[in-house]
Amino acid sequence: MFKRCICGEAMALGLRKVFYSKTVSITGVPVYACGHCARNEVYPGVKSDLSRLLSDLGAKPLPREIRFDEVHEWAGMLHRAASASVPLSAAGIAKLTEERTNELLDLLLIAASLEDAAWKRELEGRLSQLNGQYIA
Ligand SMILES: [Zn+2]
Repeated sequence: MFKRCICGEAMALGLRKVFYSKTVSITGVPVYACGHCARNEVYPGVKSDLSRLLSDLGAKPLPREIRFDEVHEWAGMLHRAASASVPLSAAGIAKLTEERTNELLDLLLIAASLEDAAWKRELEGRLSQLNGQYIA
């Protein structure tokens, strides 16, 4: 997946480690990076969930490492794609998104039939994380 950088070159999507307050490292954050001017940009579709995570951490967090791929469904999918050496192309990502969406919909069906409201809410949250990225 590519995006045009303000310098005119293409930015490639990748997974990065980002630091917060110098004490917390967050791995597996989807970031667009420009190889030409070294500009980085957090993928727009995960921005709101990332900022929610940071505000939950507060101003003086204890040192720790957070795996963003465990926090965010779409980042998790990119992480699995990268681990399996699937190129992060638009077509590859769309296919994986569809597979994961179907998996979650199946689970949602089970949660609904078990009348497990908490599990349903969690699954609905994960589904919206997967589909939210299309807004970007
Ligand atoms: Zn650039």
